[in-house]
Amino acid sequence: MRQRLVNWGGNATGVGVANIDNLGNVHPDTMWWHVTLGNVRERAFGDIWADRSVPLMAGLAASPRPLQGRCANCPQVDICNGNTRARAAAVTGNPWAEDPGCYLTDEELALPLGAEVAA
Ligand code: SF4
Repeated sequence: MRQRLVNWGGNATGVGVANIDNLGNVHPDTMWWHVTLGNVRERAFGDIWADRSVPLMAGLAASPRPLQGRCANCPQVDICNGNTRARAAAVTGNPWAEDPGCYLTDEELALPLGAEVAA
């Protein structure tokens, strides 16, 4: 199961997930409406999406992503990919900061997927 999750790659914002709003504006995903990459009425979606001159998009597409804090050293990053970058940006102003919504404890992160944590 873990290998399947690794193959999936975790959060795919800006790579395998996109958002085009009702006005044709393209965003990295539905949580990034405050970041507009272009408009499909003015430029082909493929061209907008492939344009990695936007630092945020370059970082989202990078492997590994330029994650910081807890996410940078997380043993589960290969199945998580830093989770929700929009949340990190909203809370800290830094899209590469650790995800403040990660609910896993340090102890849980170090365990193989599916292992139980002693109470
Ligand atoms: S610390 Fe949490 S959010 Fe960050 S990579 Fe690990 S599991 Fe994902």
